[in-house]
Amino acid sequence: MLTASQILRWIEQYAKLISEQKDYLTQLDADIGDADHGANLDRGFQAVLTKKDELAGKDIGTIFKTVAMTLISKVGGASGPLYGTFFLQASVAAAHKDKLSEADFYEILEKGLAGITSRGKAKVGDKTMVDAFQPAVAAFKRNLDEGADFEKSLSDAIDAAERGMLSTIPLIARKGRASYLGERSAGHQDPGATSSVLLLKAARTAFS
Ligand code: ADP
Ligand code: MG
Repeated sequence: MLTASQILRWIEQYAKLISEQKDYLTQLDADIGDADHGANLDRGFQAVLTKKDELAGKDIGTIFKTVAMTLISKVGGASGPLYGTFFLQASVAAAHKDKLSEADFYEILEKGLAGITSRGKAKVGDKTMVDAFQPAVAAFKRNLDEGADFEKSLSDAIDAAERGMLSTIPLIARKGRASYLGERSAGHQDPGATSSVLLLKAARTAFS
């Protein structure tokens, strides 16, 4: 079972990783976008951190909803609304819950990803965050169905997300700003797929 304070730690840990990797994420976005992905997410998650104290003791749905609203209001660009939608759908799945089972956590990931794809219309192979998220969610589900423990499920999900992230390198972008480059987008790793891997890695650190 995951507690609300572990979920809060997940968000704090993601904020920390984003701030540490801000320049790297922005550099990836400089290659195929407008050099703001790291700065965008860092602005959003630093704003989330200012609400950390008021979130202590709140249920998990409220925590995710606050993250969602903060990202949607503070982050311009594609990634704010997309990560915002992830957390908004997660907040619906976790409404009024103080604890999450492994199956509940899967539902968070699955509903969150569905929010991203319904909003952004990207499919695997379009060179976006979906290329990391979707195989990760599928790997988590496979483990859940096999009765694997949480640690193994999450670790396989991270491995799948990393493979998905690397798979974006040769792809031509079909969604978002990078798609304006056409064939010139090939040969570069997608920034959003990279920040998505960090989201799962932050979970491993926070939950262990
Ligand atoms: P912007 O492109 O508006 O500057 P960011 O730089 O913050 O926004 O985020 C870019 C990332 O957003 C991309 O690397 C990609 O992963 C993701 N992205 C862009 N459009 C979509 C979409 N339609 N669906 C899913 N992800 C997308
Ligand atoms: Mg950008």
